[in-house]
Order: sequence, then structure tokens, then C-alpha cells
Amino acid sequence: MRIAVIGGGVSGITSAVQILEYLKSIGSAVKVTVLSEAFSPNTTGDGSAGLWGPYLLGGTPTARVHRWSKHMHDFLEQIWLSEDAGEAGVCLIPCLRVTTTTMDNNVFWKDIVYGCRRLTQKQLNELNIGRAKKYTDGIHFITYTSEPIKLLPYLMKRFQANGGKIVQQKIVNLEEFITNCDYDAIINCSGLGSRECVKDNGMFPVRGQVSRVKANWLYYALLDESDDGNYIIPNCETVVLGGTHQVDDSNTKVCPIDKAFIVNGCRKILPSLEHAQQLYDWVGLRPGRDALRLEAEQGGKKIVIHNYGHGGSGVTLAWGCAEDVLQLLKNELLARKLLKSKL
Ligand SMILES: Cc1cc2nc3c(=O)[nH]c(=O)nc-3n(C[C@H](O)[C@H](O)[C@H](O)COP(=O)(O)OP(=O)(O)OC[C@H]3O[C@@H](n4cnc5c(N)ncnc54)[C@H](O)[C@@H]3O)c2cc1C
Repeated sequence: MRIAVIGGGVSGITSAVQILEYLKSIGSAVKVTVLSEAFSPNTTGDGSAGLWGPYLLGGTPTARVHRWSKHMHDFLEQIWLSEDAGEAGVCLIPCLRVTTTTMDNNVFWKDIVYGCRRLTQKQLNELNIGRAKKYTDGIHFITYTSEPIKLLPYLMKRFQANGGKIVQQKIVNLEEFITNCDYDAIINCSGLGSRECVKDNGMFPVRGQVSRVKANWLYYALLDESDDGNYIIPNCETVVLGGTHQVDDSNTKVCPIDKAFIVNGCRKILPSLEHAQQLYDWVGLRPGRDALRLEAEQGGKKIVIHNYGHGGSGVTLAWGCAEDVLQLLKNELLARKLLKSKL
């Protein structure tokens, strides 16, 4: 059996890992290949801090987001508790999210992270001492970061160690590729690329610019969720300062105005950043969609499963979505008698 996964970002690589590991574990003679125009360090996730947290997901049903993101959190917990945590770039960190308006009273993922608490008025008052900007609401909890620039090579190594293949190739037209290729199943995880190769006009870019600095005295993620807010997220060796979320903006060049907004805004939150060593600025285009698309195509000769449109949460949802991809694939393989029904 031959399976192609299109896309070398977090969605594609996690799907490929789960498919290969499962099919091998049941003794199936399977070949899984990831075909992608780009791989790490050149995918959308590679510049991100990979902080766990559902964000910019349009109308994707909350129950699905909860399940997917919970499964990723559980996966990160397993890695963090294993010998692989350092190589995979998985860190456990405290996180403070504040706003100048009010926060949703019922943060639907509060049971997933550790010890989520709403800030009391006393805590907010203390936080606001000496600040021009006064925060009026906030939550505090502990969660994970899994910086894709480390997580992706770790997962790709795991995939290749199991016999998975990696091929650099752009798929211009997915329908033509499906017709002409000799794969039994095609898993489309091409992110924003689906706008072109699937002709999905519902896809749109949500531009994000960030700055990476060295500031080894920071062990705390601080996010100002107000419309004009900035964020500071430590990774293993560096800290990500953010950021922008510009809908329908495809400019992948670093913009000096955005840079000033990021650097000055973050320094207002934490004045010590004045002395942080600047490493690099980075721009990525989040794969925006009115709702994430995770489904099997019906009625075709070949198995086709789509997994794209993860907005600002591709890292947060990756492992959970990949589990659903695997389940859909198993259903399709059983229906076509390519897997034994006892499975
Ligand atoms: C500034 C910024 C900060 C972010 N921070 C976070 C965060 O803290 N936490 C979080 O969860 N998420 C974050 N995100 C969002 C996250 O990075 C994305 O949701 C995620 O990268 C989407 O993953 P993906 O694999 O679906 O798509 P991508 O990472 O875009 O990967 C798509 C892959 O498909 C390939 N491809 C595309 N078209 C084709 C084609 N036609 N043929 C072959 N290959 C193709 C590409 O080369 C690429 O390898 C952030 C994003 C940005 C921009």
C-alpha cells in the first residue's frame, strides 16, 4: 500500500508519523511518502513559538477544537516527560494572558492546561503598578511550547527512522496529481497552498510578523490579548516577541513599522528587553479559513483526506488532527477491504 502526504508543515508531518507508526504496528506493508514544496526550517510553523493555545480558527466547532488541542497537550506532556523533550523543543512554562477589555468568562480549554485561574482584582492592581496601560482582566496557567524549528526535525527523524520517505515536490493541481499518481491514499496537508492546488477560495493568509531575541532571564509567557496587544514567549534558547495578525495580507517581507510596534510594545511590557540581543525578524502567513477542513472526500476512486486551514493554531491542534486523519484513513481502508475488519 502506498500513501502520500502532501505538506511538510506540522499538520503533514504529524499525520505522516501517526499513519506510518500505526500501519507498521499492525504489520501492514505500507510505504508513506511526504511530498512538499518546502520543509523545516521553511514552513509557516518554523518561525512560531509553538505556544499551546487555540487562536484564529474562525467558526471551527469548539468541541472539535477542544478534543484536538487536548490530544496535542497530552502528546506534549508525554514528550516532556520523556528523554526526547530537549531534542523536540518541548518546554513547560507559566503563562499569563491579560487584556484591557474582558475575557471570555468560560475559556473553553481551561481544563486542558494546568491550574488555570482568573486574576483577582488585587493581582491586576499589582500588575498595573507603573504601567500606562491598565489591564482589566486576565488568566494564569501552565502549558507547553513546542517550537516547530525543533519539533519538526525531531518528528521527521522519527518518521524516517521507521522507513518514511521525504520528497521535495510542488503539487500544482491536486486533482490531476490524484488521477495520475500511483498512491492508494493522498492526505492533503498543504496549508495555505490549498488555495492554489485545491482551488479552495475560502483560504486566506493571516500575516504574522515576530522578532526573535536572546533573553535568557525570561521563563514566562506574557500575552496582552487586547487588539493592540503584544506577546513575549520564551522557547528553549530564544524568546519570540510578537506580533501581528493581518488578515488577507500576503506580504512576506519584514515591515519596519510592524517591527517598531513589536519591539516597543514588548519593551513596555518588560523593560529588560531593552538589553536583549536581537537575533532575527520573521514573517509567516497563517493558513486562514472560515473553518478548518478535516474530512475524507466521498465517491472518488482513491482515498483523499484533507487536513488544512489551521489558522493561528496549527501547532496546538497538530497531533489531535493527525489522529482524526488516521481514523478517517482506517475507515476508508476498511471500507475498501485494504485492511482486515478485525482491526
Ligand atoms: C507569527 C506566527 C506565530 C504563530 N504562533 C503559533 C503558536 O504559538 N502556536 C500555534 O499553535 N500556532 C502558531 N502559529 C500558526 C501555525 O504556525 C500554523 O497554523 C501552522 O504552521 C499550520 O501548519 P500546516 O502544516 O497546516 O501548514 P504550513 O506550516 O503552512 O505547511 C504547509 C506545507 O505544505 C507545503 N505546500 C504548500 N502548498 C504545496 C503544494 N502545492 N505542493 C506541495 N507542498 C505544498 C508547504 O511547503 C509546507 O511544507 C503561528 C503562525 C505565525 C505566522
